[in-house]
Amino acid sequence: MGCSELTRRDFIKYSAAAAAAASIGLTVPKWAMARDGDVDRWVKGVCRFCGTGCGVYVGVKGDKVVATKGNPDAKTNFGFLCVKGMMAYKIMEHPDRLKKPLVRQADGNFKEAGWDEALDLVAGKFKDLRTKYGKDAVAYYGSGQAMTEETYTFNKFWKGGLGSNMVEGNPRLCMASAVGGYMSTYGSDEPAGSYADIEA
Ligand code: SF4
Repeated sequence: MGCSELTRRDFIKYSAAAAAAASIGLTVPKWAMARDGDVDRWVKGVCRFCGTGCGVYVGVKGDKVVATKGNPDAKTNFGFLCVKGMMAYKIMEHPDRLKKPLVRQADGNFKEAGWDEALDLVAGKFKDLRTKYGKDAVAYYGSGQAMTEETYTFNKFWKGGLGSNMVEGNPRLCMASAVGGYMSTYGSDEPAGSYADIEA
């Protein structure tokens, strides 16, 4: 069954069926493979949506990502994906996805800009603010979706280059509710064990 044919009611029904199947050791149901069409090849990867690190196979057709399925050999997820990981491939070509910089105009509307124009604008504003108010007047807000290498480089640039300590990688906001739940449930501010522990 293709994802586009799934109604919400179907989805809940199949989710319950999947959970039941998993509890008695059945393999991943076919509907759990999100796909929009045939694929040329499946590429082994890791879901980048959250920090769990579920093993995936990414379906590629031509130069486009068109499907995702869980990797049954991955010890993290044993072939299962949550709905975010299952649907993440749809982000790639979604019409709402920003692929070019947008610069806010005086009237509040956004105007598409080239990368050089946008970077010059941001660099100029940072420079003005530092000159006027000092090094800590500029701040960097990161993303959990950034690669480790990108985050490392940006931290170096920000602290060593710009000399500002105003760095936030995003976890304080992103994980705030989860950490609250972990602390009150497990007494630990991070996932306290593997999924297999839940059974035990
Ligand atoms: S499939 Fe879900 S739980 Fe697994 S890494 Fe992706 S978002 Fe996280």
